[in-house]
Amino acid sequence: MAHAASVPVAVHLDHCIEPSDADLALECAFDSIMVDGSLFDEEQNISYVKSVVERAKARNITIEAELGRMQGNEVGLSATDLNAVWTDPDRAARFVQESGVHFLAPSFGNVHGPYPAGGAEKAWQIERLQRIYKALGDTTPLVLHGTHPLSDDMVRMAMANGMVKINENRTIRYGYHEFIEAECKSTDLIRVQEGAVEAYCKGVQRFMVDVFGSAGKA
Ligand SMILES: [Zn+2]
Repeated sequence: MAHAASVPVAVHLDHCIEPSDADLALECAFDSIMVDGSLFDEEQNISYVKSVVERAKARNITIEAELGRMQGNEVGLSATDLNAVWTDPDRAARFVQESGVHFLAPSFGNVHGPYPAGGAEKAWQIERLQRIYKALGDTTPLVLHGTHPLSDDMVRMAMANGMVKINENRTIRYGYHEFIEAECKSTDLIRVQEGAVEAYCKGVQRFMVDVFGSAGKA
């Protein structure tokens, strides 16, 4: 269905923590898989990601990996002890070179789940992100996790520093939730569902056009 769209759409599976999940995903119709080896030590993470990249190549699937460990939890991720570990720029370059991974998700103060007081403006280590971008160059696209909430300006700043794939989730769903909250008691259920999806689409459209600058680039 996604591949029948009039614009390029890739189907991505995020945060595959268990190696068995990655094995299963490689048998499915994904275009891209994130293998989350952030609970492994660095050497294990490299060899694990490398083995997945090699198998994925034969199936024309791209692989994203995380180096370091982002703080917080995302829906669906286990509540394992996730104390943040920042991505070291030099190690990131070695990780990419040795594992052959296509996309890298760095940890530079970005967190899954709501940002604490001060928001991303306070939490992000911009200088670290800039050094990671410089170490990897434009050949390895960076992926931004931890966008709840994030101002449009912070998204643009991340894009100016190598972020090519931006994981939007909760922030983009505000309109969907607001519509349901406002209409659920007074409106027919089917109309509530349709209206909520319309509101969601508008949220996605606003990001694609006004923030990501993707209009006309398909
Ligand atoms: Zn994530």
